[in-house]
Amino acid sequence: MDGKSEVFLMSIAEREAVLLAPYAMHSADSRGRKHEETEHHYRGPFQRDRDRVVHSSAFRRLSGKMQVFTGDRGDYHRTRLTHTHEVASIARTIGRSLRLNEDLVEALALFHDIGHPPFGHAGEDALDECLTGHGGFSHNQFALTLAEELESRYAAFPGLNLTYEVLEGQATRADKEASYAMTGLAPLLEVQVVEAADSMTYDAHDTDDAVKLQLVTLEELATCALVREALARVRGAYSNLRDDLLRKAVVHQLIDRQVTDVLQTSAAILATAGELSAQEIRRSAIRIATTRELSEQKRELEKFLYDRVYRHGHLITVRREAQSRLKQMFERYCERPELLPPHFQVRAKAVGVPRAAGDYLGGMTDRFCDRQHRELFGSMS
Ligand code: MG
Repeated sequence: MDGKSEVFLMSIAEREAVLLAPYAMHSADSRGRKHEETEHHYRGPFQRDRDRVVHSSAFRRLSGKMQVFTGDRGDYHRTRLTHTHEVASIARTIGRSLRLNEDLVEALALFHDIGHPPFGHAGEDALDECLTGHGGFSHNQFALTLAEELESRYAAFPGLNLTYEVLEGQATRADKEASYAMTGLAPLLEVQVVEAADSMTYDAHDTDDAVKLQLVTLEELATCALVREALARVRGAYSNLRDDLLRKAVVHQLIDRQVTDVLQTSAAILATAGELSAQEIRRSAIRIATTRELSEQKRELEKFLYDRVYRHGHLITVRREAQSRLKQMFERYCERPELLPPHFQVRAKAVGVPRAAGDYLGGMTDRFCDRQHRELFGSMS
């Protein structure tokens, strides 16, 4: 880069000093990476993390992994990838408003679900059962395995070599209580924002998908205060809306209501933070929070979604079948490890066959998993 262009590029540290609050995680204070690297000349450490996540194979495979619904009812509903983008979008909005490190928020959000196995939480439960006695399986933990061991993109180091802050944020998701008990530190505010955004996002989009897929009606959902109030606000502003526009307007309201609440509540709390740094805040009682009213309303909606949508008869059948396929495949790979791809056979020597089989299955998309099952066992029926 010539001297002239350097004049136009404000250093990351200077830019963050102007834009971020004292309690934000400033890039200059990052604890760095396991394998030391020189700084990039125009991207900060968390921008590089974001780019590494986006360019990883595991991230691309999120497009073939279900969120709640498989593709047998059309292509309207969210996949794990579009869910991730919605979380990143909402988390960035919140992060920017609270003057947190938006690059770190984005990296964390894009990374947060990267460890999901095929067939969502049903797939996770099946693999966890398969790996009983071998450490179990959790998607949050698997994200770390992918980032540190399984992704292979760089000549200089294994994995993605993400910053300590992103890995620690994900480790907190894997086991909140243990990490708090061990360190006495709350997660970084950026990590807390992603957690809040994740829940706001799925509450809104699962409502949308469930109505669109005709598993429940908006009127039925209106037994929950959060949806009832959103519906009343939309009907107050527009009369005689077409059904699809009504549903979409309600979803906008659900997002706006939740984001506004977390912003107002958290901004009031953060106003007491003074000059506390990111690390000092972690030792304080200051947290990203919502009003009690909103958390109760969210709990009510989540219970409704759990009972009426996630446990809908059709979904249960699809899930049960996927689980039994995964278990069959796991057993077959354990009996005949030579059926694993060569690099997982090598991995089996280090971590054992069951773990290597679980890692291979955990990385699969729904479609690839079905195809592999057909190759191993013939027809799915
Ligand atoms: Mg998520």
